[in-house]
Amino acid sequence: MIQIFFAKELGFCWGVERAINLAAKAKNDHPGEVTILKEIVHNRQVVDFFKQKGVGQAESLDRIDTGTLVISAHGLSPRLKKEALAKGLRIVDTTCPLVENVHIFTRQLINDGYKVILYGEPEHDEVMGVMGIDGKNIHLLAEYDDIDKLPKFEGKVALITQTTRGVRAFEQVSARMKEIYPDIKIVNTICDATDKRQHAIHDLAPNMDMVLVIGSLSSGNSHRLRDIAKQHCGKAHLIDSPEDIDWSWFDSCRKVGITAGASTPSFSVEQILKALHEKVGIDLANSDARIFEYKSFAGYRDVQPAS
Ligand code: SF4
Repeated sequence: MIQIFFAKELGFCWGVERAINLAAKAKNDHPGEVTILKEIVHNRQVVDFFKQKGVGQAESLDRIDTGTLVISAHGLSPRLKKEALAKGLRIVDTTCPLVENVHIFTRQLINDGYKVILYGEPEHDEVMGVMGIDGKNIHLLAEYDDIDKLPKFEGKVALITQTTRGVRAFEQVSARMKEIYPDIKIVNTICDATDKRQHAIHDLAPNMDMVLVIGSLSSGNSHRLRDIAKQHCGKAHLIDSPEDIDWSWFDSCRKVGITAGASTPSFSVEQILKALHEKVGIDLANSDARIFEYKSFAGYRDVQPAS
């Protein structure tokens, strides 16, 4: 009999819940077009949900000329915010306050004369928002192996990070940067939700035969959870819905760990659990009892999977 075990921390974080609720409220409160710039959070089913509710989505500000602009949980560069205001758009800003902190620290460091190295994913919306603060004094570091490709900086140097990067990877980057710049100022802006979900999978994965990480391909933090799980148990898959599962994965598995990214709604988890029950006979009642405590998010209860 296959058993499932949940990571101690998984699924929606408060910043994601907050963003979804603010976007939903914007649709209810404001007449006219309401358009989200990019994805409100990086989850396909949440994005589809808003489309079904009649909320527009645009990949660039050029495509939004009237009504209400919703800034996603990942934030926006100050230049684009100004452009939106100049266009006369009403702005509903759902930027997670912890992403906002990265903006605040970065601005403060630049004002204090630092060159800022941002450890982040090059195309991530949060990273593009922070990079947009200053075209000259912020340098992107995508991976540890790129450290030696950075310019050699004179004067004050600081290291800061995207909120959802790998905790241990950031420690390694920090240690190496400290060797190069002994006086470097290191500001750890990895958020608590990321930290807790990563620690939980570090704890769970070594005891599992396989880990399923529920989240969308666009979700960076879900990728990180999959990578951590894979390091520990060798077999980990990122899945968005039951269709992504290859049922042969379960051959010779007895213990299956489950986690979900910070932007993964509870109904995605429930869909997967239902499929596991039907296809491989996982006995939910005799698995981890916390399944019954895994609630739908509080603020916007009528979110349902897109049909
Ligand atoms: S993952 Fe962290 S930074 Fe991103 S929305 Fe959640 S709490 Fe905010």
